[in-house]
Amino acid sequence: MARTRHVKASIAATLLLATVLLVVGGCQSASPPAAEDGPIVVLGIDGAEWSVIRPMLERGELPNLASLIERGASGPLRSLDPRQGSPVIWTTIATGKPPEEHGISGFVKEKGAAAEFHNTPFSSNMWRASAFWDVIGGAGREVGIIGWLVTWPAWEVNGFMVSQYVQRLSGFTGEEAGGSVTFPAGLAERIAPLVRESGSVTAEEMAGFVNMESELGLRSLEGQNEEALRRAFSGDETAVTVALSLLADEMPDLSCVYIRGVDEVSHRFWVYMDPETRPPVDLSKPATVLLSRQTEALVDLVREYYRYADANVGRILEIFPEDATVLVCSDHGFRGPGVWGEGRPHMGIGQHSLDGVAILAGPGIARGVELQGATVYDIAPTLLTMAGSAVAKDMPGRVLEEAFTTSFARSHRVRYVETHGAGPHGGDGDEPIESPVDDEVREQLRSLGYIE
Ligand SMILES: [Zn+2]
Repeated sequence: MARTRHVKASIAATLLLATVLLVVGGCQSASPPAAEDGPIVVLGIDGAEWSVIRPMLERGELPNLASLIERGASGPLRSLDPRQGSPVIWTTIATGKPPEEHGISGFVKEKGAAAEFHNTPFSSNMWRASAFWDVIGGAGREVGIIGWLVTWPAWEVNGFMVSQYVQRLSGFTGEEAGGSVTFPAGLAERIAPLVRESGSVTAEEMAGFVNMESELGLRSLEGQNEEALRRAFSGDETAVTVALSLLADEMPDLSCVYIRGVDEVSHRFWVYMDPETRPPVDLSKPATVLLSRQTEALVDLVREYYRYADANVGRILEIFPEDATVLVCSDHGFRGPGVWGEGRPHMGIGQHSLDGVAILAGPGIARGVELQGATVYDIAPTLLTMAGSAVAKDMPGRVLEEAFTTSFARSHRVRYVETHGAGPHGGDGDEPIESPVDDEVREQLRSLGYIE
């Protein structure tokens, strides 16, 4: 567990003193830079899309993202091309490596044919590369990882890790939960009361996303719409509440929080927001009539959800000190369903667009920089450099140095090593580990159109 702030401050002071003594002594210090830097926080918002964000920023509807963008660097973040599923992309963001090298190639690993066929969601033993938090933690910095995809079973880090199955914690028996959903094991018990099950989402909470003046009101959510909203909201509430609880008193040097809801809500509700993706009302086709009635109630749901996501960014950043460096990113952007099936939008990866979001802000980040040509490969090298760790030569991305202030770039020169290796798993996992929540996970993947 992390040290408390004042102990850390005194260690920082000692290191600073040591640096001063070295400089006074005429030596060129080769030690990692900037032990006195503030904490780094990474907020991963799955599926966040500039074409939704920009008009909302102009209307003043996303104050927390607006403030980060204003005082920092931002721009599109190119995703993997051809399109990949989110587990693949988030693992690239974490490792700086392409899918064929990091080992996570989809949502599920398929095996066997016909009656023998089974598909198991990828699990963390399949990683074949180190995450940036493994490297940064290995250099003695404390890390806290919450909800990142494909981190079940949670592995040993220099700090804590809450895997992406946190919201499904009740599906694990006490022993399994402690040993696999969190590291260290004892954390599972501490966070269990914070987990929101999707069934616990109230009508009042859902009404916050729906036009209640409309004819259908909450009835516009009947069926899969309601399940999608419940899952998105309860998942995000869980991630944020767990983050607030674990990061507040004992803040790690590096915190990462993954927030999924925007993507799930975009898959299901984009069609109501975007008139170009809706078929015309045809009285002989009841589905189009229903869609038009639902649209009156749900037209703003995606935007309301972005407001909620922005508020969550605010809730999390509120606990961080002013000298924190913040990175907000998404794994891909989003667009309309495009193709229209049996009265319903076609869902799945086809709804993702290739340009996601990157926003950086903090004392070492230059104000008002527009990032150009940034890709998901650049996140790990950039974070490693900001934390004073070396970039590996086998990472294809680059450090987004154009976002750094001159003095920050000088104190955080890019250093290289050959490789950060196969990571804590040793790269020898051949098959995913089955979990007690696999059926639920598969059901969710099917409802999003990700798997058959
Ligand atoms: Zn998606």
